[in-house]
Amino acid sequence: MKVVKFGGSSLASGAQLEKVFQIVTADPARKAVVVSAPGKRFSNDTKVTDLLIRCAEHYLQKGAAPELAETVIERYAAIARELDLDISIIERIRSDLFALLNSCKTNPDRYMDAVKASGEDNNAKLIAAYFRRHGVKAEYVNPKEAGLFVTNEPGSAQVLPESYDHLYRLRNREGLIIFPGFFGYTKEHEIVTFSRSGSDITGSILANGLKADLYENFTDVDAVYSVNPSIVPHPKEINELTYREMRELSYAGFSVFHDEALIPAFRAGIPVQIKNTNNPDAKGTRVVSSRDNTNGPVIGIASDTGFCSIYISKYLMNREIGFGRKALHILEEEGLTYEHVPSGIDDITIILRHNQMDSELEQKLVTRLKQELQADEVTVRHNLALIMVVGEAMRHNVGTTARASKALSGAGVNIEMINQGSSEVSMMFGVKEEQEKHAVRALYDEFFAGVLLS
Ligand code: ASP
Repeated sequence: MKVVKFGGSSLASGAQLEKVFQIVTADPARKAVVVSAPGKRFSNDTKVTDLLIRCAEHYLQKGAAPELAETVIERYAAIARELDLDISIIERIRSDLFALLNSCKTNPDRYMDAVKASGEDNNAKLIAAYFRRHGVKAEYVNPKEAGLFVTNEPGSAQVLPESYDHLYRLRNREGLIIFPGFFGYTKEHEIVTFSRSGSDITGSILANGLKADLYENFTDVDAVYSVNPSIVPHPKEINELTYREMRELSYAGFSVFHDEALIPAFRAGIPVQIKNTNNPDAKGTRVVSSRDNTNGPVIGIASDTGFCSIYISKYLMNREIGFGRKALHILEEEGLTYEHVPSGIDDITIILRHNQMDSELEQKLVTRLKQELQADEVTVRHNLALIMVVGEAMRHNVGTTARASKALSGAGVNIEMINQGSSEVSMMFGVKEEQEKHAVRALYDEFFAGVLLS
């Protein structure tokens, strides 16, 4: 039995939905279909989720904006027209959306999550109607009814473990299950969404709950590539990689699959197959527990910008009990999350995403770190890019770090920092943002030869 998830670009128009219908009905093992909200139809189009966010912000800050709500409804109406669906489904979407937009706004985060979630919820209802119209027994299933409970963290919910047992009961349903992605319910029955692109997470949770044999994730690329194709044209496709490799790559910038979506499938030992809705015959990429290391030490190179580092040095830091804890505690009190903490004898560097801090908070943080740790120096460096070189086989290969740093020095890239976790599935290089692309090309050339440096 398979759980299959379709992303927004696969559901953006009637023509896309026809492809989805073909794919789902081609294999009777495809039992549960998780859907996103309609995404972009062309490159400068706007996703329904983004339209909904804009709409909710307007209702919260400036008052009613029915014309914005109509732009959302028109996205569904266009699909319904293309597929010749009964207009009553659009009337229903309209009245539900207006009721939601005019609902209580005393808790803006909750309001925002409920409006965002309606994107997938309405799409699931519309898709179920479309399947039924073509004679397929298909039923929209609401996450509350199915028992998908999550933590009360607006915009970044996490699944509660008891959900898996509840979802298992869906196995007994007859016909196809059409399940909206991206949100669940708190124990108090409030809607909370996962982080952006979170329908991948719903698919993985459902695969775990239903104890599926496979989680198929349909998107708009033939495979996960070994490097971002906008940095290196026509990169090598990855046909198979492990959960750990995929998590490292998607965390550091690969946007094909949400980095938090692997854990539920991984815990249940369910492989994840990434495929292209627009080219379902392409092999795709399979994410598994272990693989044969046939591809050399490195499977992929990911990079992301928008980081800063806080360098803290204090003579004899190594002998001071609790130094690291105190430093991280200050971050905790300021509500900041960190990504990496490379350290030396007398210094530690804390790397974090810069968008969490404005200049006022940064100044406060520096002052607190200096005073409370009695540090000799606290310096913040901005505009850093992190590059992750990822591969399980690095563990068994001598000299991968040397090869990577030689490639970077050969390309004139200054390495601001290196971090290699003891898991040895990845190596992190910090470089200046303006050198990011150049550095990635140099590394790709080293490990996947045959690409000319520009
Ligand atoms: N529609 C949501 C978003 O755009 C969730 C998803 O597509 O996975 O983030």
